[in-house]
Amino acid sequence: MQTKKIILHCDVNNFFASCECALNPSIKDQPVAVTGEVTKRNGIVLAKNEIAKRFGVKTGDVIFEAKRKCPDLICVRPHHKIYEKYSRRIRAIYEEYTDKVEPFGIDECWLDITDTVKFFGSALDVANTLRQRIKEEIGVTISVGISFTKTFAKLGSDMKKPDAVTIISPENFKERTYKLPLGSIIGVGKKMEAKLNKLNIFTLGDLASFDENIIKRKFGIVGERLQKNVQGVGDDEVQNIENYKVVKSVGNGTTTLVDVKNKKEIRSVVMFLCDEIATRLRNKHLTGSTISVSLRRNDLIWISKSHTILKSTNLSKDIYNTAMEIVDQIWNEVCPLRSIRITVSNLDSEDNYQLDLFDTNRNRKTLENAIDKIRQKYGYNSITPLLSKNDRLINQQALRLDDDDDDDLS
Ligand SMILES: [Mg+2]
Repeated sequence: MQTKKIILHCDVNNFFASCECALNPSIKDQPVAVTGEVTKRNGIVLAKNEIAKRFGVKTGDVIFEAKRKCPDLICVRPHHKIYEKYSRRIRAIYEEYTDKVEPFGIDECWLDITDTVKFFGSALDVANTLRQRIKEEIGVTISVGISFTKTFAKLGSDMKKPDAVTIISPENFKERTYKLPLGSIIGVGKKMEAKLNKLNIFTLGDLASFDENIIKRKFGIVGERLQKNVQGVGDDEVQNIENYKVVKSVGNGTTTLVDVKNKKEIRSVVMFLCDEIATRLRNKHLTGSTISVSLRRNDLIWISKSHTILKSTNLSKDIYNTAMEIVDQIWNEVCPLRSIRITVSNLDSEDNYQLDLFDTNRNRKTLENAIDKIRQKYGYNSITPLLSKNDRLINQQALRLDDDDDDDLS
């Protein structure tokens, strides 16, 4: 039998309200609600902390209704940029324990720690460490479910909160979950639940033992998968976080080994950088339309300029041509250069790249795609632009590659 995976589901408790309290500790011991506009009659409660919850304040309550339940309720407006920042900081902690971190909404993640748990003790150790660290370092609490599938890990994180860990194992999952109503697992909405109820299916246990053919006939693949999930079969593929990161720009820069004195010299460096950036864009299936050039002169002054082209690209030729146009505009060879950096931003998915009928880039695209294939097979340096081959200006070690996916607000 295939060994079971170890999957955690981590869920930040009362996320928006917890962020507000972490940000402003003076309100953390009082009832707090994150709400829409207070002056508007239709302002509602978007989130509340544990204390407000004890007064019966519910998400979706109209503000005056919530205030009636809890007259001292502190209402704050949402700060979504700040919540995103908290979310990123929390995910960064998860990523220290595995690269398989799959976000689900802004405040929940699945972590597959099957291969990495051995470095940190047991699954329970990892869960408790995460709980502790996030409380201390971020100032919010999480609930963790530990299980062998995503469905049960998520269910586990719902079972006990705040600041708690629940284990649902292959041995105890039936006993722990089969009496629960259908709505307690992910994937069962109100409509689905009503339809299942008509077949006399009310609990997870009812669904697990129901005739598979009837489920399949009535609900198709969705029903089939749902039934498998409650049986604890499959449903254990946690995505890698890299698939979820939004890259905002792709850039590359270098400090040259000797100062760059003229256009001929800079061309080879720019060519080298553009070629590498274009390759990375293509690998990520991205195109970009804003090309920025930053040059640092040997008097240490930076000069930069950006230009946005009409058609988003991931071809080194296009990026190079635009970069050199910018270089011509901002640098007159009087003061030699020490560093050169090129960045492509305003990124778009390659799927949106349209080749028109008379597109001269068609051949170029075929060529650059062929280069990618050769490099994938024989390594990046197996094929390089002639101009930059073994160039004395380029210190390969000093190349700074960066995909900027962080627009930190602080
Ligand atoms: Mg949550």
